[in-house]
Amino acid sequence: MSDQWKFETQAVHAGAAPDPVTGARQVPIYQTTAYQFRDADHAARLFNLQEVGYIYSRLTNPTIQALQARLAALEGGAGAVCCSSGHAAQIMALFPLMGPGRNLVASSRLYGGTLTQFSHTIRRFGWSAKFVDLDDLDALRAAIDEDTRAVFIESISNPGGYVTDIPAVAEIASSAGVPLIVDNTLATPVLCRPIEMGATLVVHSLTKYMTGNGTVTGGAVIDSGSFDWSASDRFPSLSAPEPAYHGLKFHETFGPAAFTFHAIAIGLRDLGMTLNPQAAHYTLMGIETLPLRMPRHVENARTVAEWLEADPRVTSVTYAGLPSSPYADRVAELYPRGAGALFSFAVRGGYDACVRLIGALKLFSHVANLGDTRSLAIHPASTTHRQLTEAQQTAAGASPDLVRLSIGIEDPSDLIADLDQALTAAAG
Ligand SMILES: *Cc1c(COP(=O)(O)O)cnc(C)c1O
Repeated sequence: MSDQWKFETQAVHAGAAPDPVTGARQVPIYQTTAYQFRDADHAARLFNLQEVGYIYSRLTNPTIQALQARLAALEGGAGAVCCSSGHAAQIMALFPLMGPGRNLVASSRLYGGTLTQFSHTIRRFGWSAKFVDLDDLDALRAAIDEDTRAVFIESISNPGGYVTDIPAVAEIASSAGVPLIVDNTLATPVLCRPIEMGATLVVHSLTKYMTGNGTVTGGAVIDSGSFDWSASDRFPSLSAPEPAYHGLKFHETFGPAAFTFHAIAIGLRDLGMTLNPQAAHYTLMGIETLPLRMPRHVENARTVAEWLEADPRVTSVTYAGLPSSPYADRVAELYPRGAGALFSFAVRGGYDACVRLIGALKLFSHVANLGDTRSLAIHPASTTHRQLTEAQQTAAGASPDLVRLSIGIEDPSDLIADLDQALTAAAG
């Protein structure tokens, strides 16, 4: 029945039901580490993955299970696994697919922390990443080789205001027999449903719009359930016998739930990147209003971006939601509900003017976050993207004269007044 509910209804109800013992209507915070087994046979069946249930909260917890079911419903997936942050979700998504000597092909336009994770940290596991500009689909085709195990992109990318042609990328990944992973943090399933466009896995930082009010650090991986892990011998974690579970083959045994089961039974069990139940509870509450918040974020972003674009103190505004954007046609076709609420603008006077502007803002908060009900501002070149070389900064849309805004749900006239006085301070 819940499968037939519309998106707004799913956002409030999917995965949740009144507690059968107490009648508690909101999803309770199951603040417990362990769960009592009915008997020895029950315990054995749980440990053998012959029965689904609760053993220990590093793996499964009822509050988190409700959130996983809701996320799977909203993204149109077969299953979901939550984890401790968006960055944890990226490792959890890659872990069953990769191995030493394997690579992923990633967009060059990604969240700064993701570029760092893929350029440096994953090398410790013997994995590597090749970065390509997704406006050059031939470069993407050419980059995929025998050792490629995933293509990784963002639907709307941070902070460049880039929107990805997901169907075109999915088609290329699919014909190469490689799963496509889409980070849908900035779009949320309100603005983009990557699985409907051919994505295999969707990853989220729940930290951002999903919770929506800057209270939680969390992440999730949602699996489409449609990738054939057994079509080749490239994904042995999912297709070959698993020694730690008596030779069980995840794909053969669990079908469309293979990735989700593996992510819990191996990923959370051994990597331990577990979300906590309180964070899951906040995120469930946040998601209830996601379909109301996102259109307001988008509308405000467009109002502020248009005002900035018309201001002589501003050199340019990079926002795919503006009619002047080179991606306006792609937005109209693939992202009809809007291009998100994060964008950047270039300030006359460069790096120093940006630093003065940030210092003069009163209503906007100067923080390294996005997707909050509050409007936020940051100068990426001196903060989130400062680990990158200047070439990487520019490729990622974070050149030294850019300020990035995450537009909240306040009254846009107050936001414009704050930017107006800060631009005056920046010029002086
Ligand atoms: C914030 C963010 C991440 C990382 O998420 P955390 O929850 O901070 O670990 C990944 N991708 C995008 C697009 C983000 O905005």
